[in-house]
Amino acid sequence: MITLENIVKTYGSGERAVTALDGIDLHVAAGTISGVIGLSGAGKSTLIRCVNLLERPTSGRVEVDGVELTRLDTAGLRAARHQIGMIFQHFNLLDSRTVYANVALPLELMKMSKAEIRERVLPLLELTGLASMAERHPAQLSGGQKQRVAIARALASRPKVLLCDEATSALDPHTTTSILALLREINQKLGLTILLITHEMEVVKTICDQVSLIEGGKLVETAEVGRFFTAP
Ligand code: ADP
Ligand code: ADP
Repeated sequence: MITLENIVKTYGSGERAVTALDGIDLHVAAGTISGVIGLSGAGKSTLIRCVNLLERPTSGRVEVDGVELTRLDTAGLRAARHQIGMIFQHFNLLDSRTVYANVALPLELMKMSKAEIRERVLPLLELTGLASMAERHPAQLSGGQKQRVAIARALASRPKVLLCDEATSALDPHTTTSILALLREINQKLGLTILLITHEMEVVKTICDQVSLIEGGKLVETAEVGRFFTAP
C-alpha cells in the first residue's frame, strides 16, 4: 500500500546541508499497522512527511495505493492526498470551528453538498465517540478528545492510509491507550493501512504489526513486532 524507494532528503545546501534521510526503503502492506521508531533527530518526522509529500524528497520514489506520488503535478497530488489522512502530535484543529465543523472542513474544501457532508460526519463522530460533543469548540475538549476530532477529520475523505506523526506524544498514558485502541479499531473496521512514527516503544508494542528502527536517516532494521522485541 505504501512503498518508499531509496528516499533521500537533504535540507539546505553546501556546507550547511543536512541529510535527514539517507536512502530509505520501506514497504507497508495494505491493512497493516507499521511503526517507525527512533531517537529525536533520527529523521522520523521527515520520513512520514515524505509519504504524502508535505516534504518533497530530494530523490527517490514514493508510491501509495499504486500511484507514484513523486511523479504527480500539483493538481494530481491534491487529488491523491484524499487517499492519505494525517494526524499530528498537537492535533492542528481550528479553534474557531466546532467539532462538527472541523471534521466537515476537508469535505467543504472538496465542494461536497451539506447533506453529503452530514452523512459522512455524523457516523465519524459516532465512531470516534464524539457524537455528544459536535457543538463544542476545541478549547472545551481534553487532549484525547481533540485527537479524536483530528482522527475523525482525517477519515472524512475516506482515505486508504492514515499517517500518525507522534499522535500520542502529547497525551497521558491512559489517554494514549484509548487513542491506540481507536486506531486499532479503525484499522480493523475500515481496513485502513496505518503508518506511525514515535519515540515510544510502548506505542509500537501495543499496536504495530511491523516496526522499523531509524538511526541517522537510515532504517537499520525492519521486522515483525514479535521478532523485534524478542532476543535471538
Ligand atoms: P525526528 O522526527 O526523528 O526528530 P527530523 O526528521 O525532525 O527527526 O530531523 C532529522 C534531521 O533533519 C535533524 O538533523 C534535523 O535537525 C534536520 N531537519 C529537520 N527539519 C529540518 C529543516 N526544515 N531544515 C533543516 N534541517 C532540518
Ligand atoms: P448552516 O447554518 O448554513 O446550515 P452549518 O455549518 O451550521 O450551516 O450546517 C451545515 C449542515 O450541517 C447542515 O445541514 C446542518 O444541519 C448540519 N449540522 C451542523 N451541525 C451539526 C451537528 N452538530 N449535528 C448534525 N448536523 C449538523
